[in-house]
Amino acid sequence: DETEELFTIEESLKELAQLADTAGLMVVDSTYQKLSTPNPRTYIGSGKVAEIKAAINAYAVETVIFDDELSPGQLRNLEKAFGGNVRVCDRTALILDIFDQRAATREASLQVALAQMEYQLPRLTKMWTHLERQSGGKVKGMGEKQIEVDKRILRTQIGVLRKDLESVRKHRKQYRTRRLSVPVPVVSLVGYTNAGKSTLLNQLTGADVLAEDRLFATLDPTTRRVQMKNGKEFLLTDTVGFIQKLPTTLVAAFRATLEEISESSLLVHVIDISHPLAEQQIDAVEKVLSELDASSIPKLMVWNKVDKASNPEEIKQKAKDLEDTICISALKGSGLDEFCNAVQEKLKDSMVWVEALVP
Ligand code: GDP
Repeated sequence: DETEELFTIEESLKELAQLADTAGLMVVDSTYQKLSTPNPRTYIGSGKVAEIKAAINAYAVETVIFDDELSPGQLRNLEKAFGGNVRVCDRTALILDIFDQRAATREASLQVALAQMEYQLPRLTKMWTHLERQSGGKVKGMGEKQIEVDKRILRTQIGVLRKDLESVRKHRKQYRTRRLSVPVPVVSLVGYTNAGKSTLLNQLTGADVLAEDRLFATLDPTTRRVQMKNGKEFLLTDTVGFIQKLPTTLVAAFRATLEEISESSLLVHVIDISHPLAEQQIDAVEKVLSELDASSIPKLMVWNKVDKASNPEEIKQKAKDLEDTICISALKGSGLDEFCNAVQEKLKDSMVWVEALVP
């Protein structure tokens, strides 16, 4: 498989670092190890454990993130090895954190909560060691009983969530949020994580604009109001980015966080044109959009990071020849006027009034 070949360990770790950054963490170091089989106790070998422990001390590290899923036992052993306050987690837990921060609708929140609980269920052993430690390791049986209780509670909660989710889905089409009669269209940014969506969002708008504006104060932090030179405006909203290595257990939660895009007037698909897998990424995004019934929404393709591409002129020419495609550098701020014009042009075709502005 070509994708797998191109998506190297380095690429995967780079994406992991980007995800950590999105989750609000500061990445200080990364490392990997090639083993014929993972160590059953600690996933990595003992030498690597010691190496990471040294880095933890050197940088006062608070969190160690593994790119692959760890077994509950490995998680526990690593936490023990790294010492008291270090949180050990894996890619799945990190992505769940991000989804949790980004879930904008009730349905998305429920779906993410469900995924979080399902992820926790087999990992409850951590509480067990906690209890064991508290009792000085003497009353092991008590901890074991406790974990059965915890598991039962969690299973009940999962059941409740599933029911809630079902009823929210059923009623979604019946009740609509009150609409404001403000003709501001909503434009959603879609694309891979690291494509430059938030850089574009920030380039186009100042956060301070939002703070002064009471009408828009209820918008979540990933939505900004963009005013064009001619005075017209639109709301630009960032969506949770696509992830190259998305654990299959998170697919449902990921889609739920994207569901709100079906309410947009226009989709802006941001592409990192300098990425070696740009084409595969485009295909993957388009596929999910069609599965979300968003194919009928007008779309603008934005080829970002032209400044970083090896053949910028060639790329710009190519984009010019294509319909609904423009070239920008969100970082350098080039092509933004063309972007706004293209957005306005596309919005003429369709108009959906803003929803959910009233709390
Ligand atoms: P998002 O995950 O799609 O929101 O991506 P970000 O906006 O966080 O950008 C990811 C990285 O790409 C950041 O390090 C940005 O500085 C960088 N980036 C974004 N746009 C450009 C661009 O036009 N040119 C270059 N060279 N880098 C960019």
